[in-house]
Amino acid sequence: MPSPTPVPPRDRADTPWRSEGAPPTPPPRRKMPGGWRGLVLAALIVFLLANVALSFFNQGDEPTVSYTEFSKQVADGNVSKIYSKGDAIQGELKNKQPLPDGGKGDYTKFVTQRPAFADDDLWANLSKHNVVVTASPVVVQRSFLANLLISLAPMLLLVLLWVFIARRMGSAAMGGVGGLGRKQPPKPVELEGGKRTTFADVAGIDEVKGELNDVVDFLKNPEQYRALGARMPGGVLLAGPPGTGKTLLARAVAGEAGVPFFSASASEFIEMIVGVGASRVRELFSEARKVAPSIVFIDEIDTIGRARGGGAAMGGHDEREQTLNQILTEMDGFSGSEGVVVLAATNRPDVLDPALTRPGRFDRTVSVAPPDRAGREAILRIHTRDIPLAADVDLDQVARTTPGMTGADLANLANEAALLAVKRRQSQVTQADFMDALEKVQLGAARSLVMPEEERRRTAYHESGHALLGMLQPGADPVRKITIVPRGRALGVTLSTPDADRYSYTEDYLRGRIIGALGGMAAEHVVFEVITTGAENDLEQVTNLARGMVGRWGMSERVGRLTAIPADAQSPYGLLAAPATLDVVDHEMRRIVDECYEEACRLLREHRPKLDALTEALLANETLDEPAAYEAAGIPRPPKEAK
Ligand code: ADP
Ligand code: MG
Ligand code: ZN
Repeated sequence: MPSPTPVPPRDRADTPWRSEGAPPTPPPRRKMPGGWRGLVLAALIVFLLANVALSFFNQGDEPTVSYTEFSKQVADGNVSKIYSKGDAIQGELKNKQPLPDGGKGDYTKFVTQRPAFADDDLWANLSKHNVVVTASPVVVQRSFLANLLISLAPMLLLVLLWVFIARRMGSAAMGGVGGLGRKQPPKPVELEGGKRTTFADVAGIDEVKGELNDVVDFLKNPEQYRALGARMPGGVLLAGPPGTGKTLLARAVAGEAGVPFFSASASEFIEMIVGVGASRVRELFSEARKVAPSIVFIDEIDTIGRARGGGAAMGGHDEREQTLNQILTEMDGFSGSEGVVVLAATNRPDVLDPALTRPGRFDRTVSVAPPDRAGREAILRIHTRDIPLAADVDLDQVARTTPGMTGADLANLANEAALLAVKRRQSQVTQADFMDALEKVQLGAARSLVMPEEERRRTAYHESGHALLGMLQPGADPVRKITIVPRGRALGVTLSTPDADRYSYTEDYLRGRIIGALGGMAAEHVVFEVITTGAENDLEQVTNLARGMVGRWGMSERVGRLTAIPADAQSPYGLLAAPATLDVVDHEMRRIVDECYEEACRLLREHRPKLDALTEALLANETLDEPAAYEAAGIPRPPKEAK
């Protein structure tokens, strides 16, 4: 399996940050009845309640007999003693009697009620039969304590419930707020084997490592810097697309320098209960200062660091601003010799508040780009360190066929290959596993779907249209694979990737991409004279390309060489151009796409036999790889570009 570098678990639910490598702090002490004491208390209460309940029910055991029955027993001389209070009489028999009124069993003790109108001479009767009239109850009454407990029982239950809930909350995120458990400093996370992430776990971005080496060096020997009066940059901003290893790098810097690492995602600060974001930031920094030199890492800082003002202020806007201000204040407060370095990561450096990048704050921005071919190979090596590879595995070849993939994509690819090997009950991962995993990652998992023959035929023409146009145009990306096996939402897929990484594109290349993307629709048009819904994604792609060419890359004479459309659709500044310009942009986009569509249809008509041949091969095989596809179309494969 690849060696993932998981983010350490959150130390405590009530602190929004994680830390590693910080010295241990004593575990938090509980103030509440907890552990064994709580258990004993609960047992005691249950015992008392049970007793009370028992005595309560015992009392009800004395049968209430009719006054007639009582008079009869007195007359029979069978009553030994009685106790009376008002008209209520309790008593005891000398010999037990069967229960009257058809009740089951016998009784000796009893209760009865003397009617007010009874003018029998009870006292004379009792004296005649030597019945003792006692001064204390014959039937055991509930004690005062029991009475008290019974009346208190509901309250006791409430208290128990409260303690229970409070303890549950104490261990959940509300602890600090409920005022029950006091917040404690983060305790260090024990990493397995004490191994921390270092630069050895990061590959393919050597320039970035070079820039961060300064930071590592400073953290390792702060005295030398202090002696020369040199100040460290207050903060370093890592900017780059998702999955390029920014989070990984931050941890590697801390691991490399061997200093404590505190990390928090900016969104976690404001996710917390409203009003605590700023104080959490203060706490985080004060913890970091205590163990300096150390690193504070704020991930996804754009969620709180977006330019202020402008744009729609959503709820929680103030919270965001306060949290950001607190971070800025903390960074301003550094004297530079404290040795706390702040790293932050973002995929959107363009939307950040300029206040963040002022000198003394995040005054260094390091761009982290997706890796090139050699970088991809190195990253694959790292993520296959713990995977047994078969002799035929050629990671260089895998790296060649994965342009544009990021470190996270490659880590995922290695894992998918290993999973496939496990599924196939192999003891090693083979090149075929890698290729199949790549297909799955790039195209999505195959979906079993019974397609009507007619639709299958149309899909085959659609994909052949994409593929043929890709093959016919010089300089276009070679076609790697065509399939009419449904995958994900698509009914078929044509995959073209470049031989080497591309960093900029010519106008001809972009037009070729548009023509290729329209190829599916054009083929359906040319062959069946119908348009189906299967081209939705294609059109999206076409629109994006055309918009870029006209509005951003200056490829239209009429619009001219200016940026008419912001890169970010939700730019706080809105549109960059006047409505008239946008009209022209719209017009030009249409012109380009229409021209490309004409060209696509023309090419397909001209090469109709090739289109038919490719479609037949696809219907027969369902999936064609690169050589098979070019052979079926009767087109020579383009020579491999030098890398
Ligand atoms: P980001 O924070 O830029 O979105 P991450 O640091 O979270 O990306 O990367 C996710 C995972 O991808 C990492 O844990 C690592 O396994 C892998 N990865 C990304 N970039 C690299 C790289 N340059 N070298 C090695 N592994 C990488
Ligand atoms: Mg990240
Ligand atoms: Zn298509």
